[in-house]
Amino acid sequence: MSASQSNRARGLATTLSHAGRKPEDFHGFVNPPVVHASTVLFPDCATMLSGGQTYHYARRGNPTTDALEEALAELEGAAGVRLAASGLNAVSVALLSCLSSGDHVLITDSAYGPTRHFAETTLKRLGVAVDYYDPAIGEGIEALFRPNTRAVMTEAPGSLTFEMQDIPAIARIAHAHDALVVMDNTWATPCFFDAIGHGVDLSVQAGTKYLVGHSDAMLGTVAASERAWPGLKETHGALGMHVGPDDVYLGLRGLRTLEVRLRRHMQNGLEIARWLEERPEVARVRHPGLESDPGHAIWKRDFTGASGLFAFDFVDGISETQSYAFLDALELFGLGYSWGGFESLAIPVRLKGARTATPMPTGGPSVRLHIGLEDTADIRADLEAGFAALKG
Ligand SMILES: *Cc1c(COP(=O)(O)O)cnc(C)c1O
Repeated sequence: MSASQSNRARGLATTLSHAGRKPEDFHGFVNPPVVHASTVLFPDCATMLSGGQTYHYARRGNPTTDALEEALAELEGAAGVRLAASGLNAVSVALLSCLSSGDHVLITDSAYGPTRHFAETTLKRLGVAVDYYDPAIGEGIEALFRPNTRAVMTEAPGSLTFEMQDIPAIARIAHAHDALVVMDNTWATPCFFDAIGHGVDLSVQAGTKYLVGHSDAMLGTVAASERAWPGLKETHGALGMHVGPDDVYLGLRGLRTLEVRLRRHMQNGLEIARWLEERPEVARVRHPGLESDPGHAIWKRDFTGASGLFAFDFVDGISETQSYAFLDALELFGLGYSWGGFESLAIPVRLKGARTATPMPTGGPSVRLHIGLEDTADIRADLEAGFAALKG
């Protein structure tokens, strides 16, 4: 696996432990304070009018938001980072920062559903033309470029269907056409995919998932390359985006243990994925870390790890209703949207016409699993109970 982290000054684990911390600024305390603030006072008019003070007004940042943005900028090897109220808000500000009326955007057919909804509603209303492409298109994306194509939206592996994408090839072509590459990097996080180092200009994380990691806050992050940073900074500021300090702090706290948690999610996830591959009820497991997966070669070339989220398809002949009986029988796995917390979760996959550039998958129904930090023997036993319920 590639270990290229060209923009990072020190190792991944060291960065996660130390980035964004300045104990000398806060009386030696290890962590920065949670600054609840709006107004910032100035000593006199001269200071107020000259801008000669670090902070002016809390919407534009405070020591808590600065700590997380600086830590993420170091982690991502980015020119700058901005925080958003949710992962979807991070996607929307990233796209708004590089698209204008009359522009054209290419979006992977495997994009997160609400990203597609944002494109179909807000982007189209603002006069942006939207086309979807096969996530496996690679260099073939060049044929879809128009003179006004200004951005390519990528996500790897794809939401619900887990297709990998050749990000370096797409980035090469996008940059030759003066377009920016936006990536939803929530699955791997910057720990396991160096998005900016592979040519991405706007690297988005739903911080709600692994960064926060404990299912107790919503957060989004956008890291920008040199090329994309002025636009992101301007648009984020113009929109008046701000995240409350308590939620920012939960992101900062989650960051310190991100890699340790991810490694256990990866280990548990791969173990369960391999076990599922052997089950007679399962036609296919969608996990790029498996040798059998069509995206495995790209995953191995570009990524340094996997998270705990994947899907599997039941064999033909298992009905939707039976798949719901499987899910209802699970006790350890919660039935709930989102993922990335410490606990296991499951949902039925329902694409409902959310693929237009590629054929809808056929065959048995599909289930998405988030493998948490529990003991894998207990996770397997829970899934066994689900399989038993198929016969019920
Ligand atoms: C959950 C998710 C988002 C959105 O994050 P929210 O914080 O729920 O808005 C974006 N992209 C992917 C891939 C996600 O799974």
